[in-house]
Amino acid sequence: MAHVNPHFRQLPGSYLFSEIARRTAAYQEANPQAALIRMGIGDVTQPLAPAVVEAMHAAVDDLAAAESFHGYGPEQGYGFLREAIAQHDFAARNIAIGADEIFISDGAKSDCGNIGDIFSLDCKVAVCDPVYPVYVDSNAMAGRAGDWDPAAECWTNIYYMPTTAENGFVPALPDQPVDLVYLCSPNNPTGTVLGREALERWVRWANKHDAVILFDAAYERFVVEEGVPRSIYEIDGAETCAIEFRSFSKTAGFTGARCGYTVVPKALVRDGQSLHGLWNRRQCTKFNGASYVIQRGAAAVYTAEGEAQVEATLDIYRANAATIRAGLEAAGFAVYGGVNSPYIWCKTPEGMGSWEFFDLLLNRLSIVTTPGAGFGPAGEGYIRLTAFNSPEATAEAMERIKTHFA
Ligand SMILES: *Cc1c(COP(=O)(O)O)cnc(C)c1O
Repeated sequence: MAHVNPHFRQLPGSYLFSEIARRTAAYQEANPQAALIRMGIGDVTQPLAPAVVEAMHAAVDDLAAAESFHGYGPEQGYGFLREAIAQHDFAARNIAIGADEIFISDGAKSDCGNIGDIFSLDCKVAVCDPVYPVYVDSNAMAGRAGDWDPAAECWTNIYYMPTTAENGFVPALPDQPVDLVYLCSPNNPTGTVLGREALERWVRWANKHDAVILFDAAYERFVVEEGVPRSIYEIDGAETCAIEFRSFSKTAGFTGARCGYTVVPKALVRDGQSLHGLWNRRQCTKFNGASYVIQRGAAAVYTAEGEAQVEATLDIYRANAATIRAGLEAAGFAVYGGVNSPYIWCKTPEGMGSWEFFDLLLNRLSIVTTPGAGFGPAGEGYIRLTAFNSPEATAEAMERIKTHFA
């Protein structure tokens, strides 16, 4: 008898996006003439940079000839990409991360979900609330989360750190023993960032308690404000307590192409073992490397041409985010994020739940958003809007909101 992993049994269904789709479809059917604007999109919409496309085409040609053919590549990624990352994302910003501390992958979701493989099942996990669901569900699948409490919509053995307007979207240090802490900055879903002081506090705490910070920097390229850390390794001491996840998805349009990377510093040791060594062992066993073609495309992001093109695309999203912020503020809402991030986190009107506000925007203004409650209990009272629509649709949505609420 093959028993299934019992921890899957308690996983709540991925209710959020299916429920949004259901309500949106019902509205559309009842109002076929309504011009729907989707502000809930968590996927980029602009095409890949021409320099990236050109590099991918050339890489396909490499595979087409015996002399330049590439079969299995290194599990850790090709040297050309690891070197480009080490140079441009770290050395150029005076951060001492070597190319051999960088592991290329097919994206940050896989790495965030897989990193638990190298930690003991009895590690206590802390997450921000609201949260990117992958951190929680992957630990639940492994058996680290305890039991699902449907009333509280929480796992009994996960330590949730409320991250709301009340604490400036900076989670307080744990008041109980915690071993693994997931931090995400710029944050999905709140769009806010952790400043240098906050990260310094976390790094000091983690080193003191031999904890490990799992730092998700999937949105780092959206950072525009001076002084906002783009990597946890900008903080002294992070190399002995933090693993960082990066992705080309949101920053260079790779959601469909698939490429990301994880940094595991060689100085990071727990139980006398190198976490770099453990992650290398894990990847060599369960992963056969990211595609050669895609890695060639990712390397082109670091050419002068590629960098300029990627920035031009990011500027479109940044301008949309500014439009959303200004529109919501003009309509009288309290808004957060959207400066160093494509996400805007908006407080619902006094006393209104996030699903109720979602319904109001859908049914009265034909605008689709994401209710904050879907990202955790502390997301109640907020909705998330994204900058990934066209400038025209974004402006039109804000006109509707200003006209209705102002
Ligand atoms: C989109 C996203 C990722 C990962 O994306 P990949 O496409 O798997 O690289 C990781 N973390 C957060 C917070 C995200 O929003």
